Amino acid sequence: MILDGKALAKKIKEDLREKIQASGKEVCLAVILVGEDPASCIYVRNKTNDCREVGIKSLEYKLPETTTQQELMELIDKLNNDSSVNGILVQFPLPKGLDEAAVVRAISPEKDVDGFSKINIGGVLMNDSDCFVSCTPAGALELIKASGINICGKRAVVVGRSNNVGKPMALLLLNEGATVTVCHSKTEDLASVTKEADILVCAVGKAHMITADMVKDGAVVIDIGISRIDSKQVGDVDFDAVSEKAFAITPNPGGTGPMTRAMLMFNTVKAAGLL
Ligand code: NDP
Repeated sequence: MILDGKALAKKIKEDLREKIQASGKEVCLAVILVGEDPASCIYVRNKTNDCREVGIKSLEYKLPETTTQQELMELIDKLNNDSSVNGILVQFPLPKGLDEAAVVRAISPEKDVDGFSKINIGGVLMNDSDCFVSCTPAGALELIKASGINICGKRAVVVGRSNNVGKPMALLLLNEGATVTVCHSKTEDLASVTKEADILVCAVGKAHMITADMVKDGAVVIDIGISRIDSKQVGDVDFDAVSEKAFAITPNPGGTGPMTRAMLMFNTVKAAGLL
C-alpha cells in the first residue's frame, strides 16, 4: 500500500476550508522569513499558497538578513498581542547570529502552530488534546491512522531524536499504544533494531540509509527524511527495494511533506478555535 500524503493532505485542506467557510470567521497566520535562503523562500511560498487554498489570511513578513534579534523579538511581541493573528510561524533556519531557541520561547504557546514550544511539546508528552502537535510527526501519524493501520500494541521504531520530529513522533506512537524504541546516531547495530519494527519511522536526512535488509516483511514504513541526489529529492528509505517488503510505505516526495503542510493549516484553524 502506498501511503499517499498528497491525496490525504488535499482532503484535510478541503475539510478545513469548509470549516472556515461555515464559521464565517477570519483565520490568520503570520509567517516571518528572515533573509533569502532559497529553500526557506520556497517553504514560505508553499505555506502562503496553502493558506490561500484553505481560506486562511496570511501575513508575510520578509525581513532582511541584517535583522537584529531585538527587531525580530519586537515583531513577535507585536503579533503575540494582535488578537486578529491566530498563528505565528518563523521560518527556520534563521541567519547566523539569530537565536532560534529564543524565538521559540518568545512565541506565545497559543499561537505556536509549529508546535515547537516547551508547553506544546509537554502537551504531546501528556497526551493533552489541547496542545499543538509538531506538524511533521502529526502528519505522519495522521497518514498511518487514515490508512486504517492499527498502531496499538505494535512495535514501533523511530530513527531520529530531534525535538521537533523524532521525539514527538515517538511520543505520539507511544500515546497510541505502540511499544516504541528511538534510535539515533549513537545506536549500535541499527539494523537489528529496525528489523524488529512493525512500524518504522525514519527522520534522519541520509539518502537511502534504510535498505531492504533493515526492514521486517510486512512493516509499515514512514519516510520523513529529505536529501537530494543529483538535485532530486529522496528520502531516508531505499524506496524501490523496501516497497517490495513493506505492507505500506510513504513515497518521498509525496508522503510526509504534503502532510506536514496540511497539519500547519490544521493547527492554525485550531488556534482560531474552530477545531
Ligand atoms: P535533525 O538533524 O535535527 O535530526 C536528525 C536525527 O538523525 C538526529 O537525532 C541524529 O542523531 C539522527 N541520525 C543522524 N545520523 C544517523 C545515523 N547514521 N543513524 C541513525 N540516526 C542518525 O533533523 P530533523 O529531525 O529536523 O529532520 C530529520 C529529517 O527530516 C531531515 O532530513 C529533514 O530535512 C526532514 N524533515 C522532513 C519534513 C517533512 O515534511 N517530510 C519536515 C521536517 C524535517 P543524533 O541526535 O544522535 O545526532
